[in-house]
Amino acid sequence: MTPEALLELGVREVAEGVRSRTLRAREVLEAYVAQLEIEEPDVHSFLALDVDGARARADELDRRVSRGEDPGPLCGVPVAVKDNIVTRGFATTAGSRILEGWRPPYDATVVERLLGAGAVLVGKTNLDEFAMGSSTEHSAFGPTRNPHDLDRVPGGSSGGSAAAVAARFVAAALGSDTGGSIRQPAALCGVVGVKPTYGSVSRYGLIAFASSLDQIGPLAATVEDAAVLLEVVSGHDPRDATSATRPALAVCATLDDGVRGLRVGVVRDLVAMATPEVASAVDEAARELERRGAHVREVAVPEVRAALAAYYVIAPAEASSNLARFDGVRYGLRVGAPTTEALMVATRSQGFGEEVKRRIMLGTYALSAGYRSALYVQAQRVRTWLGRGFARAWAEADVLLAPTSPSSAFRLGERSHDPVAMYRSDVCTVPSNLVGEPAVSVPWGFDRERLPIGVQVLAPAWQEARMLAVAAALEQGAPR
Ligand code: GLN
Repeated sequence: MTPEALLELGVREVAEGVRSRTLRAREVLEAYVAQLEIEEPDVHSFLALDVDGARARADELDRRVSRGEDPGPLCGVPVAVKDNIVTRGFATTAGSRILEGWRPPYDATVVERLLGAGAVLVGKTNLDEFAMGSSTEHSAFGPTRNPHDLDRVPGGSSGGSAAAVAARFVAAALGSDTGGSIRQPAALCGVVGVKPTYGSVSRYGLIAFASSLDQIGPLAATVEDAAVLLEVVSGHDPRDATSATRPALAVCATLDDGVRGLRVGVVRDLVAMATPEVASAVDEAARELERRGAHVREVAVPEVRAALAAYYVIAPAEASSNLARFDGVRYGLRVGAPTTEALMVATRSQGFGEEVKRRIMLGTYALSAGYRSALYVQAQRVRTWLGRGFARAWAEADVLLAPTSPSSAFRLGERSHDPVAMYRSDVCTVPSNLVGEPAVSVPWGFDRERLPIGVQVLAPAWQEARMLAVAAALEQGAPR
């Protein structure tokens, strides 16, 4: 098979090929590595690469298969993992100077599961520092660029994972999504990104940003590829206290179920926030579902208009607490000073970037005596109210349709000096995190400048199977 043809194979086809010895894991890996060697210097999707380690791993998988072993459903599939997910073999930085030089002593559960299923880990991908951002420009190690246009951002914070999949440096990747960080970069890079139900995927080994919102999920070239990864990484983990006591999600068998008879609600209030081109993409996607037999209508969820404000109180509040552990004593960077307090101040002043400091200050302020009830407690009330808004929508619709990002990829630097403009990139994605429900971004064609557009399918908690069947239908009908 030619390298080009190898790069076109789905995750399942690669694994089946390697398991049945019609393909070799090593030859698949080399096709991806060749692509990476040409384009990665321009894109900068990785913070750490281990091509030699990946080669040794691929050879080992080929040997195991030839001995009659079955390494699993991701056998020989080259993958990448966002660098806020810990890996024993690699330094893990979370895109921050404060963790420089830290080597995690263990693998995250999701990494264990990928490797346990036969995946080949190629490297760790770039991200906004501690996953705070929507463009990957807040990485302490320089931005990632969008493979569709190198002057544009890939989105964020899982921009490295999205770009690596879009540029075919790996077959699939993991990201984390606290307020849209899987779905928004997936949309901007023209790939599929899934934020699963809160509690469905273990966060043991995910460097926490906002613990009531964070979820790990897949980014992949197709809905099926994402579904295969989701089945592998989901399911109960006793090492994560927030992990639901449920089996792994079963989503692959029903991908071709279609949408006949399904009630699809188009979230008017979110479409209204998008550019005309993105709004018309959502419209076209809705019409496609209608052609395929779904009942489509507009649904009002006016509560979503308050979601962004609530998110930017709750997420920084939780971050200010989670990031207290980076004290210059326990991990990574240590800037020496005469007293312990001075050491902590010096380390945190040098180690954290501007956006992370902004979040810590915002969060500390929102939790401080005197402001707590006006800000943090009020934001939690909005969160409850938003949940009721979605509950009402779920009485009328089986899935909801919305934009993923209000616009296509913006230029590097365009929003980096205007935090609120950057925060507005998340207006369509934060609602699902606040209510703990799943959502997926699926590519839906391109805008006038040939930049990808993503549409979002939202579903009630634990309805990933239906959600991804709708996503698969959209994928089939999407303009190319
Ligand atoms: N862009 C959002 C933020 O900056 C979401 C980030 C995320 O999902 N990790 O908080």
